[in-house]
Amino acid sequence: MTQETIFGRILSGEIPCDEVYSDKHCLAFRDIQPQAPVHILIIPRKNIHKLSDATEQDQELLGHLLLVASKVAHQEGLEDWRTVINSGEKAGQTVFHLHIHVLGGRVLQWPPG
Ligand code: AMP
Repeated sequence: MTQETIFGRILSGEIPCDEVYSDKHCLAFRDIQPQAPVHILIIPRKNIHKLSDATEQDQELLGHLLLVASKVAHQEGLEDWRTVINSGEKAGQTVFHLHIHVLGGRVLQWPPG
């Protein structure tokens, strides 16, 4: 059920977002609490709670999400950027609808916290 999380409510149009890209498989929008000058989230329309719940059936979708990450990064004029997927609470996941963070526009430190 896509309505279970705040991202499900964004997908259904119940909650607005600052959209930067959309297609039949996914939606990309600006993070409400950006951690970098560019901070975009890419979410599948399919409700997968976290990356570890994805199966082989999702292989094409996961590849598509990464290509969209690259597309929106270019769209934002980024040459270098980072993608992050937090899978599970201890990894920092707070919204349980799979999402890819795209961060850029500043020098990013490694390793993350
Ligand atoms: P994570 O901690 O990996 O689960 O990331 C969840 C992200 O969703 C955080 O960076 C939040 O700032 C972001 N977020 C939460 N609610 C919204 C919202 N309504 N619109 C845009 N981003 C959101």
